[in-house]
Amino acid sequence: MKIHILTDGEFTGYDSVRLSVNCYLISYADQNILIDTGIGNNSFFDTDKYSVKYPRKLLTSIKDHGLGPENITKIIYTHLHFDHSNGSFDSDGKCIFKNAKHLIQETEWMRFLNCDSDIRKNLFLNLYESGNMELIHGSACIDGKIKLILCGGHTEGFQYAKVNINGQEHIFAGDIIPTVWHINNGNSPGIDHDIEKTFEIKREILESCISNKSLLYFQHSSMTRSSRIVRYGERFKTIKI
Ligand SMILES: [Zn+2]
Repeated sequence: MKIHILTDGEFTGYDSVRLSVNCYLISYADQNILIDTGIGNNSFFDTDKYSVKYPRKLLTSIKDHGLGPENITKIIYTHLHFDHSNGSFDSDGKCIFKNAKHLIQETEWMRFLNCDSDIRKNLFLNLYESGNMELIHGSACIDGKIKLILCGGHTEGFQYAKVNINGQEHIFAGDIIPTVWHINNGNSPGIDHDIEKTFEIKREILESCISNKSLLYFQHSSMTRSSRIVRYGERFKTIKI
């Protein structure tokens, strides 16, 4: 099994903070699995709120590993915010990853249908109707290899993923710990659905990273995209590996 960190480029959040968008490619046997799809080359989101640099880079980043979108077999969505899911569609709204099963937590799907924009709902409803979407009900394990943990916090149906390669655990915590800065600093009530819960899960993940010497992946960091975690007094810090 191999893990590759892919980049989709950067964007500026509503609070003027510049964020990277990282996705992950996990390959084994005949499987090429993506975790999240970034923003994509479309503008099906609130363009007044976010400043996005085009062209986006996910497809080039996939190509750098000798693959095309048709080779992607599954897509795991941590959640359905635009910066994690719009990259599944081209500028005409057509699904790019035609051979992939799109795995979404049922709770996240219900949240999305209740509160997202009509244009994004239509994109995903088309995907649902094509039969290429699979709803997951709670924590699950994909092919006995990728553990998905439904934890909520950032969104009601948020999930993160873990894989173990030869005894080394890799944790893709997504927007629970989006950047290195978030290890010790605040998530935002404007962004997190349940901030208390986000803090609780974040602490659990960081403690588990220390106990198991896990590698933690930061989905919105540009410099340190993955790291081990150690205790630093009352706080946590990353260490170079
Ligand atoms: Zn995000």
